[in-house]
Amino acid sequence: MKKILIYFFGFIFVCFILPILFTKKDKEVTTTNDNVVNDIEISNEESSEEPYNYEKYGTIKLLHLETGVVEDVAIDSYLCNVVSAEMPADFDIEALKAQAIVARTYTIYKINNRKHENADICDSSSCCQAWISKEDRLARWDENLRESNWKKIEDAVNSTKEKIITYQNEPINAFFHSNSGGKTEEPVNVWGGSGYPYLQTVETSGEDAYTQYASEVILSGQELIDKLKTKYADITIDFSNIEDIKILEYTNGDRVKTVKFGNHNLSGVETRTLLGLRSANFTIAQENGNIKFSVKGYGHGVGMSQTGADSMAKQGSTAEEIIHHFYTDVEIKEVNDIV
Ligand SMILES: [Zn+2]
Repeated sequence: MKKILIYFFGFIFVCFILPILFTKKDKEVTTTNDNVVNDIEISNEESSEEPYNYEKYGTIKLLHLETGVVEDVAIDSYLCNVVSAEMPADFDIEALKAQAIVARTYTIYKINNRKHENADICDSSSCCQAWISKEDRLARWDENLRESNWKKIEDAVNSTKEKIITYQNEPINAFFHSNSGGKTEEPVNVWGGSGYPYLQTVETSGEDAYTQYASEVILSGQELIDKLKTKYADITIDFSNIEDIKILEYTNGDRVKTVKFGNHNLSGVETRTLLGLRSANFTIAQENGNIKFSVKGYGHGVGMSQTGADSMAKQGSTAEEIIHHFYTDVEIKEVNDIV
């Protein structure tokens, strides 16, 4: 039980605390639905009770997890809170518009795949989708930027009104993450399962200009053993044998698929969680008796990369072009057109 708890809290740390600690701007928080582990959804696609009534696009029931209060909120008003929680307001307006479309799509998807009995969606990024109150959001911005930042977020939401991303006329599960490291990942390599043909590996230039792109974790041999022991109690590594720590296989998205640590082979995703790496795209080197993990990208790597979206926008792409880049063979439709 103790090991499960350690593993669980380690996972929480990697997925929630780290992204909050290391963002492009100190005052901004880029959260991603990296934390929303959809392996359950992947194997349970038919959990929808009733199909969403698109003609009623208007309000949703938002559950505030801490208080248990369920609030009826206008979707587009709710989306301003979501987008402002998910992406720095100083990102390009086209990237923010793409994020607004992604958030709206995710919201509709969640309404169709409800997790909560009395609500469509909750305000927790660990469960459904990040949300921050306008008051808290404004308080975290410099005073002279509050009005213009909020207006920019509202513009991103209002100028994309009712637009969602569909595949075969259904809202997609619009995964996104912070930085792809240059190449996105297929969901099967992160959570297993299948059924997301619109989530393919794609390449994006310019992501190396962001602080989320490169990071390192350096561990002593003992630290490495201790971290791996939280899941593999019997692990042993011969550090004098170069073959004893070795990447065996890569995914299509250039992330580590399998890595050998002594007497165990781990997946790249599992290694990321156990060692607190920002992504599963890493190389390993032994240096001065330590083991150095050099990591590219930030997050699970599936779907839209937020810094990739900003990079594309700064190179002249529109929100719709960004979405078509990250989600394969999708259409952008108005909610009311899906009937
Ligand atoms: Zn929830």
